[in-house]
Amino acid sequence: DSKTPLWMRLNSGFRSKFKIQNSKFKIFKIMRKKIVAGNWKMNTTPAEGLELVKNVIAQSEAVCECVNFIVCPPFTHLSQVAEAAKGSRVAVGAQNCAAEAKGAYTGEVSAEMIAALGVKYVILGHSERREYYGETSETLNKKMAQAYANGLTPIYCVGERLEEREAERHFEVVKAQLEEVVYNLTAEQFAKLVIAYEPVWAIGTGKTATAEQAEEIHAYIRSVLAEKFGEAAENTAILYGGSCKPSNAEEIFAKANVDGGLIGGAALKAEDFIAIGKGF
Ligand code: PEP
Repeated sequence: DSKTPLWMRLNSGFRSKFKIQNSKFKIFKIMRKKIVAGNWKMNTTPAEGLELVKNVIAQSEAVCECVNFIVCPPFTHLSQVAEAAKGSRVAVGAQNCAAEAKGAYTGEVSAEMIAALGVKYVILGHSERREYYGETSETLNKKMAQAYANGLTPIYCVGERLEEREAERHFEVVKAQLEEVVYNLTAEQFAKLVIAYEPVWAIGTGKTATAEQAEEIHAYIRSVLAEKFGEAAENTAILYGGSCKPSNAEEIFAKANVDGGLIGGAALKAEDFIAIGKGF
């Protein structure tokens, strides 16, 4: 992007923010990856998915190279989309993987199969998987292990339901989702992890958390991660998800602890997805 100053472009792939650390007013720079990931869910035919990724790749040229794009199509077109994205700046992720390595698990797709396609990421613990397919922390621990064993980077989703937010239980819900799964990772595994905070009440509803609400809980998530992993938590990319669109991305991404977005509906139109990437 020619409008981006040179020093920002040189800082490619990372976010730099200044932060005042404790009472000594020591200022340090936080460098974190900026990520815009699209969760296509159960949408698009293989042909439509191929068209979509091609458009995303073509239009991504207009976005600062510092933004990392990821698209997560359904399993049926993962192979084609990964092939089309090869050598481009757009990475590919799966929306799920099996909890077991291989064998008699009809209908399941293993992390090994996914990784063999050149896919780099896998969304785990999405609220729709938790809600409709009964995924528990126990299952998710196994899926995380499979993902890491096969070199996939998990995008681990957390987030509270509407009634939990209304009862002001959102901090406790998110903390449990982190403690029960992320706390079981090694330091080496944790260093690769991407987190997505997705309040269930904002997913596909058109209701978005305010930028302040997002920042409040993202900062909290980082503090919970720091309790276990210390300073490494400063490097964890924490994405916001829930009706994120071109009109609200910039305000949300401007917050200190928001490192990008996991995008559902708006990821199905290349123009919107790319416009969200321009929100940094
Ligand atoms: C999602 O389900 O990951 C999501 C963020 O969906 P939407 O953007 O449609 O709310």
